[in-house]
Amino acid sequence: MDVVALKEEIIQYSRTIGIDKIGFASADPFFELKERLRQQQHLGYQSGFEEPDIDKRTTPSLLLSEARSIIAIALAYPSKLKNAPRSTKTERRGVFCRASWGQDYHVILRDRLQKLEQFILARIPNARVKSMVDTGELADRAVAERAGIGWSGKNCSIITPEFGSYVYLGEMITNIPFPPDTPIEDQCGTCTRCIDACPTGALVQGGQLNAKRCIAFLTQTKTFIPDEFRDKIGNRLYGCDTCQLVCPKNKGKDFHFHPEMEPDPEVVKPLLKPLLHMTNRQFKEMFGHLSGAWRGKKPIQRNAIIALAHYKDESAIDDLLMLLREDSRPVIRGTAAWALGKIGNRKVMPMLQQAKENEQDEDVIREIDKALVMLENV
Ligand code: SF4
Repeated sequence: MDVVALKEEIIQYSRTIGIDKIGFASADPFFELKERLRQQQHLGYQSGFEEPDIDKRTTPSLLLSEARSIIAIALAYPSKLKNAPRSTKTERRGVFCRASWGQDYHVILRDRLQKLEQFILARIPNARVKSMVDTGELADRAVAERAGIGWSGKNCSIITPEFGSYVYLGEMITNIPFPPDTPIEDQCGTCTRCIDACPTGALVQGGQLNAKRCIAFLTQTKTFIPDEFRDKIGNRLYGCDTCQLVCPKNKGKDFHFHPEMEPDPEVVKPLLKPLLHMTNRQFKEMFGHLSGAWRGKKPIQRNAIIALAHYKDESAIDDLLMLLREDSRPVIRGTAAWALGKIGNRKVMPMLQQAKENEQDEDVIREIDKALVMLENV
């Protein structure tokens, strides 16, 4: 088998199926990453969404015996929203982060990787391949870094010279010994803009992320957002792009190569109040195709309530009172109570008192008390 020629064929083919960058890496264990992950686990920096088995995350041969190489792919996504609707005083809007615009990227990348697999298997029928995107065991970023897709920035994103960090990553482990590409040298230099701009100080020790403080992670949880972070969430419904937006390497990077990644402005910058009362079906119809819908309706609704509090939107008071009275989910009732306190209109105090008398859930009662204290101090 002429692996050099096959590699070249794969590179050429990848361009015809909408893969914007491709790189090849060895399938050796990721020793350095293993050490870093252990340290992160020890410090409690992990989100809990990742594969818990560090050996699996760092040892490709545990995922595919005879693993010899990994093919890394990157697809550039848009960073600018065309015809963005305006958020007005009584019609406030929230935002989904850029990685959740358009069709769920897992679906798009799986399609590209499947095509690549078929291409390889048509040439080498007994080849062994295993592809993954994001939710797979391997760390996409470590693979992309080794395969020369980009360097790992201090914002914990892979930064490509061509597309900045606005890229989705995926990879395929193979038993074919493709010659590896050369990693790209770190180009962050002395810059610390992302670390300085992070709203919650989640970027620590230049290149490490404390996921528990990261807004992108917090917006995906299903419980109460800890108090210290609520004011920092702003109008974010899902994810946070701050560390990408401030990065000078992303300046002017906005690529619209893939029609399925084009965002619908009304979907990715939706009105907040209608979100509060959506049925599961309505939610699925409007947002089901986004990667940001993966945790369901509750976190997005909770974040919408926090966003209304951020705007101190008096026009949302009746909606929030209704949630406090009628919603079956404590996190929604409690966050609504807190938001009423934040909005700061004392006329809701009797309704909060009433809700407290009827409330059984201790967490919700705590939130009502917080709201009452805020309103007493208005
Ligand atoms: Fe690197 Fe600066 Fe971009 Fe952070 S903002 S990733 S330090 S170049």
